This record gives sequence, structure tokens and C-alpha cells, in this order.
Amino acid sequence: MRQYIAELQRLSRNLWWSWDTEAKELFKELSPLLWERVNHNPVELLRHISNDELMARLDCEFGEKLSHVIDRFDAYLASNDTWAAHNAPSLTKKPVAYFSAEFGIHESVRIYSGGLGVLSGDHIKSASDLGLNFIGITLFYKEGYFRQHLNQDGWQIENYPTQYPESLPIEKVTDAEGKDLVISINIAQSEVFAQAWCLHVGRAKLYLLDTNIPANEAHYRNVCGRVYGGDQNMRINQEILLGIGGIKLLKALGLDPAVYHMNEGHSAFLTLELLADKLAEGQTLDDAKKAVTSKCVFTTHTPVPAGHDRFSRDMMHYSFSKYLEKAGISFDDLMRLGIEDQNNLGGLFTMTVLALNLSRSANGVSKLHGEVSREMWQHLYPGKSVEDVPIGHITNGIHIPSWGSGFTDKFWRHYTDSLETLSSSTEEAEKILAKVSDKELWCLRYRLKRNLIDFVYRYLSNQLYHQHVYGTYMEEDSSKLAKNPLSPDVLTIGFARRFATYKRAPLIFSDIERLNRMINNPTMPVQIIFSGKAHPHDDAGKHFIREIVECARLPQFKGKIISLENYNLGVAKRMISGVDIWLNNPLRPMEASGTSGQKIALHGGLNFSIPDGWWPEAYNGENGWSIGQGEQFDDYEQQDRHDAEELYATLENKIIPTFYERNEDNIPVKWLKKVRNAISTIGPVYNTHRMVRDYTTNYYLNEE
Ligand SMILES: *Cc1c(COP(=O)(O)O)cnc(C)c1O
Repeated sequence: MRQYIAELQRLSRNLWWSWDTEAKELFKELSPLLWERVNHNPVELLRHISNDELMARLDCEFGEKLSHVIDRFDAYLASNDTWAAHNAPSLTKKPVAYFSAEFGIHESVRIYSGGLGVLSGDHIKSASDLGLNFIGITLFYKEGYFRQHLNQDGWQIENYPTQYPESLPIEKVTDAEGKDLVISINIAQSEVFAQAWCLHVGRAKLYLLDTNIPANEAHYRNVCGRVYGGDQNMRINQEILLGIGGIKLLKALGLDPAVYHMNEGHSAFLTLELLADKLAEGQTLDDAKKAVTSKCVFTTHTPVPAGHDRFSRDMMHYSFSKYLEKAGISFDDLMRLGIEDQNNLGGLFTMTVLALNLSRSANGVSKLHGEVSREMWQHLYPGKSVEDVPIGHITNGIHIPSWGSGFTDKFWRHYTDSLETLSSSTEEAEKILAKVSDKELWCLRYRLKRNLIDFVYRYLSNQLYHQHVYGTYMEEDSSKLAKNPLSPDVLTIGFARRFATYKRAPLIFSDIERLNRMINNPTMPVQIIFSGKAHPHDDAGKHFIREIVECARLPQFKGKIISLENYNLGVAKRMISGVDIWLNNPLRPMEASGTSGQKIALHGGLNFSIPDGWWPEAYNGENGWSIGQGEQFDDYEQQDRHDAEELYATLENKIIPTFYERNEDNIPVKWLKKVRNAISTIGPVYNTHRMVRDYTTNYYLNEE
């Protein structure tokens, strides 16, 4: 029994469990209620579970399951027969260091805000699965990103619960003498100290820097407060810590990476510390720049000029004065590395420009985003035509084992050994699909949708309770819901993402009457589930949330349009597996890639999206639907009108009729044909195993 507990503890301290269906179930089985209460956090579960409950659960049967999981866990950690061992042997000695301001690995580790973090999390998981020698670097945010509540007016309320190290599977990094490893960096005129934590993600390690220690003044402790929190000054401090602090940490650990991957410009200050090291060795600035450039690769994620981090000359001067003195870099030389117009040294310092200037390769995150990025940054490369601007693309993906775990994973394992086989190639997927009857596939859909609806009810009762706490509870809400329950027989649309305004969450409400006719059609009804957070500074995004909450409250939509608060990885997992249609209507071409739609395919959901980001590459006419053909207008209102019309017309004329067209067994044969097409064409391409292999062969291994 004591041994069971020790094994469970060990399992809880490596996030490998989060993408293993059976490991996850072990924790849940220990105490299903507590599991929900601790936000699916095994460390917390094991801290708080009562002895009686443990006694009751830890029987022989449990022990057998546990040892089965532990055997697989140990085999995973020990395996040398990996993709990287065969395809990237030169990387086995020196690691890839991957810097990102956020990592979304599991909902219980709140160091992410949205898509960028989820991508980093999926990247590190695939790097582990492929056996790549891989290290992630980020910050330990004490409050993480906010927890969202919606008040009765539909206005977003932000709470920042503290996350404590003892509740997380992280351990302090120590030096050779066993003392806490602490690095120091110069910010403005101060010396700021950071200790390091380590999080195990399968075979990979994620290091988190933390300024929340007594050695720092309060001002600098807060640098590790919130993900993208505070003002510009906070932002630059976080980015100095991530970039420069990250390199100092790697040096303190004695690591000499083969390549530094900057995932978005936030970490680009790392190039300065690398430059400083070369200058200290006596190199000229030009030689130092060449040496640094040969080690760095950069991924940009932002197709909108305003979305890039920029700092004023004054702020740069203030923040870097002491650092530059020690580094031996002049202030003008620093500014030249990050300004867009070399004739205007007073211009803004742009992180993306710094990263582009000091990377051997750069890429966007979809084919379309590559094109947009080449156009956007052409002016940095005088004399080059748009096609020759050295920014390529690697399209984003998702970590299939994470996004398919649970019921779906078990379903597919009746027909094949793993989800990874299902998503290995279109041919393989078609072979597997040939073994699955329409009836079985439709049963999967029905079951997943019912699971989602059960989840929605449990979640909503909590949500209504919170409204009670905030004094805004309305009796009527819960009784209406009880009378008009969501139905697993009804076509279900999901829309969930960050509520950045370009994503246009309320577009489907453009014509309430027309929407009403679809939602309340007596023979072919529709129901919609929304969820999403707006950035705390984004009032326009918060107004969008309110608009949706208000529309969902209209009498004709009660219980048929639902909005769930606090979108996070846990809510995302439920939604993407249950819905029939995943709606995505951003303003083209502002969605660099988008990944949420990639998550639904293996659950049998279908995408309905503006041809933006990854979708124009993936859409083949049979594996989902497109909203329009990518028409772009200069006038925003005209664009919205056009896209809303396309959205309604496609729903009315294609999607809804196809869903409700049934054979004698009540099975939508044509619909399922599309589902099969989506499973065989999306999973095999839009996954992070493919993505990390592409990064490795095209960029990590491609030294100059
Ligand atoms: C997948 C995911 C995203 C990314 O969604 P897109 O809008 O498609 O980029 C954001 N947040 C969470 C919680 C996710 O799981």
C-alpha cells in the first residue's frame, strides 16, 4: 500500500500522465469528486485525499492497473528507440532550447493564456514523444492567467487565485552543492534575482524562472505575477527575465544548446545575452552577430502589425542602461538591432525585428501566414522581392494523444493500437476507418455529445452558484435550462477561443431572426455552446462576451444557446470532443494558424471556418465547410455583412440539411462520409509530431 502511494506520487510528478488515458483514470478513480474539486491536479489530489478513501480504493485491482501504467511510464522514459535517435542523432549531445512566454500543458498548471501557450505545450509533448533532446524555458507566474466569471450582466470578472509550488509537480533546481540555484540579471539600475523550477514533461524538461523570492524588492517580485499582466514596463521586465534570464539559467546549468528557438518575439532579448558572451570572448560586434545568428531560429505568430511587442527608445534606455554597460554594447547598436527604419534611431524597438535580425531562419505558422509575414516584413530586406523574403512556414498542429485521450482513445483502440497510428497517414487512417461501420461511428458521436451535455449541466450549476456568490443569480436561469435541456440529437455548434475582437465571436448573431429560424426549426433544430476569455485590458472583447450572454438570454434562445465561463484547457477538451461543428469566423488574414479546429477531427467533429490560418491548406471540399472563398474587403462592415451572409447560407443550405438527412436506420450517411474524410485528412497532417519533425529537419538540424 505504501508502495502504491509512492508510485502514484512519482506518476503525479511528471505530466506524462496528462496524455495517457489510463494514467489519468487512475487518479480520477481514487476520488472522482475530489478530482473535480482540485481541477484535475494529481499533486493536490494526493495531498488532500483522506486516508479512509485511499484505503478503500487501493485494492488489488487498482494495484494491477497502477503497475500496468507504471510499466508503460518507465518504458517510455527509458526508450532509446525514438524518431530523434534515428533522424537527429547530432542533437542527442546538445539540446534544443525552446523559449516561450507561456506553456499550456494541462489545466492544473496555469502558466498559459491561450493558443500560443497551448501550442508550446503541445510542442514540448511531441518533442518528448519523438525523443528529441529538448528543454523549454518560461516563467513561473504565481497567479497565472485569470479565472473568469460572468456576472448577471454578462460582464467578465477576473480572479487571480495564487498557485503554490507545493500544489504543482515542480521541483526547485539546485546547484552542485544542493543550494537553490539563483541567477541574477540587470533590469534598469537594479540587480534582480530569479530562482528556477523544473517541470517534467515526459522526457523533456521545462524550466521556470521565478523572481518571487525575498532577495527582490516587491516591484520585481511581481514580474512573475500574471501572464501578460501589467503595463509596458511590466512587459519589458518579463521579457528581459525570459530572454536574458533564460540564457543565464542555461549557462548556470552547464548546458550548451545546439539551437535556441524563440517561439514568438517575447523571448528575443536572449540574443543580447548571447551577443554579450561573444563580445566577452573578444569578438567584434559583426562576428558576434554572425555567431549568434547561426544558433537561433524564430517563429512569428502575429499577422497584424499592431500585435507585435514594441518598446519606446526611452523605455529601452531606462531598462537596459546598466545591462549594456556590462555587456559592452552601445545603446545605438542595441537600437539598430530592433528598429524597422535604420534612418530613424528614435523609432520603436520591435521584438520581432530583433528576432528576425538575429536568427538563421524564421517562419510563420501556416502557409497563408508565411505569405502575409513575407509581405509585412519585406521592408526589412531592401532589394528583395516578396517571395525572396527569408520567412518560411511550418503549419501548427496539435498533440494527438493529449487531445484524443479518454473515451475517443478507447474507441479507436478497438480498431488500432493507438491514436498515433490513426494519425500517421491518410492511407493508414482509411484502412482503420474501413473497419468502422457508420453505426459505430454514429454511436461514438452520440456518446461524446451526451458526455458534453452532461458536462455542461454540471458546469452550469457551478456557474450559477458563482453568480449567486456575486449576488446576480437568477432563479429563472436554472429552471429554464431544466425545462429546455440540450439534446444529443440536435446539431451542436461550438465556438470557443480567446475573445480577441478579430475572431468576431458574435458574428452569428448578426441577424437574430434568421438565427432564430435555425435554432427553433421544429424538425431541424440547432444548439450552440460558447466559451472564451477576453484579455483583461480588452474592453471591446468583453463587450463581445456580454453581447453573447445577452443574446443567449433572449427567450427564444434560452437553453439552446449556452455560454460557459472560464474557458481553459479542461473546458476546451470537453467542447472539442462533443460538438458536431466547430465554428471559426476570424477576420481574414488575422488568424495566423488557429489550432482548435484541428482538435475536433479525431472525435468525428467537422470544421466550419473562414479560409484563414491552417484551414485553406486543409480544406478539400469534403472534410468540412468553408465560410466564403476568402473574399477580402477594405470596409469592415461590408466584410462582416458578407461573411455573415455566407455563414447563414452555408448553414441553411448545406450543413443543417446534411446533418438531418438520414437513412432508414436514422444514420446521416453523407455527414459521416465527411467525418471519415476529416479524420483521414486532418489528423495525419495537423499534429505536432509532424510539426516538430518539420522543425527538426528544416530548422534545428539545418546549421549554416
Ligand atoms: C486550442 C486552444 C486555443 C487555440 O485556439 P485557436 O483560437 O484556434 O487558436 C486557445 N485556448 C485553448 C484553451 C485551447 O485549447
